[in-house]
Amino acid sequence: MNKLVSIIIPAYNESANIPHIINAVKDTFTNQLYNYEIIIIDDGSKDNSIDIAREISLNDLTVKFIELSRNFGKDQALKAGIDLATGDALVTIDADMQHPPSLILEMIHQWELGYEVVYAYRQEKNPHAKLKNKIGSKLFYKLVNFLSDINLEDGIADYRLIDKKVIKTLSQISEYELFLRGMVKWIGFKQIGIPYTPSPRLIGESTYQIKTLIKLALHGITSFSVKPLYTAVYLGFFLSFSSILYIPYVIYSFLANIEVSGWASIIMTIVFFGGLQLIILGIIGIYVGKMFMQTKNRPNYIIRSTNIQQK
Ligand code: UDP
Ligand code: MG
Repeated sequence: MNKLVSIIIPAYNESANIPHIINAVKDTFTNQLYNYEIIIIDDGSKDNSIDIAREISLNDLTVKFIELSRNFGKDQALKAGIDLATGDALVTIDADMQHPPSLILEMIHQWELGYEVVYAYRQEKNPHAKLKNKIGSKLFYKLVNFLSDINLEDGIADYRLIDKKVIKTLSQISEYELFLRGMVKWIGFKQIGIPYTPSPRLIGESTYQIKTLIKLALHGITSFSVKPLYTAVYLGFFLSFSSILYIPYVIYSFLANIEVSGWASIIMTIVFFGGLQLIILGIIGIYVGKMFMQTKNRPNYIIRSTNIQQK
C-alpha cells in the first residue's frame, strides 16, 4: 500500500488561489508512489472560498474541505486540518502559492530518511517583502528567541511536513492560544529544516501586518516561557539596589545643605517608572489572561461543515 500524505491548506479569502494551489499540489504528486489528500480549511472567509473548495471536492475525491464557523486564525485552521487528517504524514502549506509546492517531494524524501518534522525556512531575503515587514520579521525572531526558551530560526515558515506520531501528539495538546511554529519546535522529535525562496503572493493581499506581528511576538514569548517575569524581578532588584547606593548621597546633600533643583529629574523618574510598572503589570496581565482563557477550555475551532469522516 502506498503511503498517504495529507496536504493541509488554510484559506482565508483565497477563492482565486484555491484552484491554482490544488492543481500545483496534484502536479507535484503525478507519477509519485504516494497517495494524497488535499484538505482545504476555510477559515471563515468572506468570499466564496468554501463554495469553490466544495465544488472541486465533488468531482475530485482527493480534495476535502473543512468549513469553520467563523474566522479563527491561521493556526486554529491548521489545527483543524491536523486533527482531521488521516495521512501517514501531513504537509501544511499556504494557499497563496508563496510556498513552492515542488518542495513537498523534498520534504517527503527527508521524511523517508527518518525525520519526523521537516520544516521550510526562507533562505534568501525575500525580495518581495516590504521593508517594514522585513524589519518586523527580523525583530520578531530576535525577540521571541531572546525572551523565551525556544529557539526559532529566522524565517521559519508554516510550511512543514510532520509525521503521524507528531500529528498525534499535536492533536492531544489542547492549548487555547495556539502558536504552532513554537509548538512544533518545542515538541522535539527528529527535525530538519530545508531552505526555500518564497514566491510573491499569487492573488490578493496578505492579512498579516506589523500589528499582528507584535501580538504574535508577545504571544510567542509568553506561551513558551516565564522569562519575562524573571526579567521583571531582576530589574526590580537592580533598581532597588541602585537606589540604595544613591541614598547616602541624598542624605549627604541634605546635611551639607546643598541645594538641589529636582523638578526635571523627578518628573522624568516618575514618568519612566510609571511606564515600567505598567509594562510589567501588563506582562503579568498577559499570563493571567492566558490562564483565564485556558480554564474556560473552549475548543480551538468550531467546524460548520466538512466532508471528512471524523475520527
Ligand atoms: N489564513 C487563514 N486565516 C487567517 C489568515 C490567513 O487561514 O485568518 C491563511 C491564508 O489564507 C494563507 C495563509 O494563512 O493561506 C497565509 O496567509 P497570508 O498569505 O495572508 O500571510 P503571509 O504569507 O503574509 O504570512
Ligand atoms: Mg502569504
